[in-house]
Amino acid sequence: MLIVMHHSATDEQLKSVTAAVEAMGLIAEPIPGSLRTAIGVLGNQGYVDDTSIRELPGVREVIHVSKPYKLVSRDFHPVSSVVDAGGVKFGDGHPPVLIAGPCTVESEEQMIAAARLVKKNGAQMLRGGAFKPRTGPHTFQGLGVEGLKLLRQAGDAEGLPVITEVMRIEQLETICRYADVLQVGARNMQNFDLLKEVGRSGHPVLLKRGMSSTIEEFLSAAEYIVAEGNSRVILCERGIRTFEQATRNTLDLSIVPLVRELSHLPIVVDPSHATGRRNLVGPMAKAAIVVGAHGIMIEVHPDPDRALCDGAQSLTPDGFGKLAVELKRLQSFLETL
Ligand code: PEP
Ligand code: MN
Repeated sequence: MLIVMHHSATDEQLKSVTAAVEAMGLIAEPIPGSLRTAIGVLGNQGYVDDTSIRELPGVREVIHVSKPYKLVSRDFHPVSSVVDAGGVKFGDGHPPVLIAGPCTVESEEQMIAAARLVKKNGAQMLRGGAFKPRTGPHTFQGLGVEGLKLLRQAGDAEGLPVITEVMRIEQLETICRYADVLQVGARNMQNFDLLKEVGRSGHPVLLKRGMSSTIEEFLSAAEYIVAEGNSRVILCERGIRTFEQATRNTLDLSIVPLVRELSHLPIVVDPSHATGRRNLVGPMAKAAIVVGAHGIMIEVHPDPDRALCDGAQSLTPDGFGKLAVELKRLQSFLETL
């Protein structure tokens, strides 16, 4: 529920509305804004009878928010959030962030080469999986803690913050020690216990859209993290399952402007997992920037033919260099519009 106050409402009136909400056993969250002052009501598990609130002096209207997500919604937080993750800013007013690196950490040599490549081409964050959610158990599952160390070492060597995936609550503490940003992957988007703990960690999070998730489910998953007091959440569209088999997934780019309408959180796009095909990554990355993504996450490998995971979608060093230049030129052009 959202209580919208009159422009002329006094501090006293705000206080008495807050007290009335609290007397009902609910939480009142002030939502200051230049256009209106409102009070968000949290803690209810169903419809709230608003008769005692509606009539209080200073109240203009009471809006019942039926969405399952509130804290991440624009209703509760009209101003766009800028998320600082490892010193890199994601959100309105900041150029799109380029996150890049291999699918998986494989060796010291591979990570050092990847970090150099990422830095040289102006990307701002290094990715690399150490704990990998692989479809089958007979494939490379990642180097685990050793992989975290190599990722950190490579990031430090080039002055890049690093992001890596957390799959289990037990891994959280260790991953928080090595990584600047936690990634919750598509397969764990609705692992609610993990989301809660990630929320409690207070660490910046990149939350990927589940492969068959609706926008409402996606934002509700983000709500779990924010509800634990961690508002540093970056959403990531990475393609969804459809009947189409020609691409690994179907990139739902319309989610970008739609999420920007519904939520104040930044959203980035991962065209690598969305398409699964190297030659489609560049065009879709550019399209993502045009529709307003706050960043792009791309897989690049020093030698994709030898990659232990996702080689077919990983850009070559040359391909990545070319795309990085094109993305910069595109961004400069968009700024002139
Ligand atoms: C990844 O980014 O390494 C990954 C596994 O992606 P997703 O969760 O989107 O499949
Ligand atoms: Mn991958």
